[in-house]
Amino acid sequence: MPDFSLTPEQESLRDLARKFARTEMAPHAAECDKAGRFPEEIYRRGWELGLMNLNVPTEYGGSGLSVMDQCLIVEELAQGCGGMTTSIIANCLALEPIILGGTAEQRAQWLTPFCAEYHLASFCLTEPGGGSDAGALKTRARKEGDHYVLDGEKCFITNAPHASLYTVFATIDPQLGHKGITAFIVPRDTPGVAPGKDEDKMGHRASSTSTVHFEGVRVPVANRLGAEGEGFLMAMRTLDQTRTPIGALATGIGQAALDHAAKYALGRRSFGKPIAEHQAIQIKLANMVQSIRAARLLTWQAAVTIDRGERGSLESAIAKCYASDAAMHVADDAIQIFGGYGYMKEYPVEKLLRDAKLTQIYEGANEIQRIVISKELLRAYA
Ligand SMILES: Cc1cc2nc3c(=O)[nH]c(=O)nc-3n(C[C@H](O)[C@H](O)[C@H](O)COP(=O)(O)OP(=O)(O)OC[C@H]3O[C@@H](n4cnc5c(N)ncnc54)[C@H](O)[C@@H]3O)c2cc1C
Repeated sequence: MPDFSLTPEQESLRDLARKFARTEMAPHAAECDKAGRFPEEIYRRGWELGLMNLNVPTEYGGSGLSVMDQCLIVEELAQGCGGMTTSIIANCLALEPIILGGTAEQRAQWLTPFCAEYHLASFCLTEPGGGSDAGALKTRARKEGDHYVLDGEKCFITNAPHASLYTVFATIDPQLGHKGITAFIVPRDTPGVAPGKDEDKMGHRASSTSTVHFEGVRVPVANRLGAEGEGFLMAMRTLDQTRTPIGALATGIGQAALDHAAKYALGRRSFGKPIAEHQAIQIKLANMVQSIRAARLLTWQAAVTIDRGERGSLESAIAKCYASDAAMHVADDAIQIFGGYGYMKEYPVEKLLRDAKLTQIYEGANEIQRIVISKELLRAYA
């Protein structure tokens, strides 16, 4: 029987994140959601508390946390606000290619500043022509002497208008398909780099999302991560690492929905008794808690697999896919339990549904996760 107990260090990390989520994120969540405000002061505070750059090794000043520890933190943060959590953990996504594929010099040069001071970075893979088929991306990287020249457009990039650094995936030759994709470190102030305006989104409205244009952007060869053609694998390995915390983020949204729904069900009365005493509501709550606990366990299983040194593609795909679907149906049930009030913006549960939806789409849509899962499954039976 596996031991699911946490170490004292893990308990204190979780407590730190819980306190920050409850006292500094949650009180501003509704206002930021309504206004679509990017609360940079909260992100700075998260950085001060060591809740950013969770995956950056300690030798560069980061937290150097295991994926399991990251998941414990992210689940708590998501209960404060899903959108803020997306922005807080975007540095982990953007910096992971440098951790995985950078040389010792590149890591020291590019990771250390993020831990010495508050800065944001963005991971630039998705393009307007398609995100799921990342091997077909169109942004070009042409080598000219000791530089590459980047031309193209990325879209839906988290934190892009506020980031000082981009990790960018471009192709040296579209004919090569995924074998042409190469990763680059691109400082925001490089001439020709232009983030677009903030998108007006359905959920995660405290997060910022925009296009980034690259026009004749000259990047030194020294900023290439790995060899030419190694970018696709680097992107996929990055997503294997970061997808599991998305499972935790979805679990946190689901947990928040359950907490609100259970409290409401105890207080709201119909037919002379609290609605929590109607069996139909009890069954809903029972199903909700089962889904959330299963999501948490699958997320922890994926985290432990990756922390053991395995790639964990299957486990992280299962965790992200299951937890995000669970968050959606749990948030939906929470609205149903709130009845008409659940549909009103004055109450917190409709935001949770809007926030849950994104977890089914980003870091690889769930259709793509199911393709990964079924491929692995069928390989075992072939
Ligand atoms: C708020 C937000 C933040 C994001 N942040 C980032 C970021 O920081 N960096 C970044 O690079 N990207 C980011 N993304 C992009 C995100 O990862 C993509 O939206 C996602 O991968 C899907 O790509 P797409 O939107 O182009 O959909 P498409 O690839 O066009 O897919 C459309 C639909 O078709 C389905 N589909 C596609 N191919 C198949 C197939 N073979 N079989 C079955 N179904 C299929 C998809 O699952 C989806 O349902 C973000 C997106 C959003 C909305």
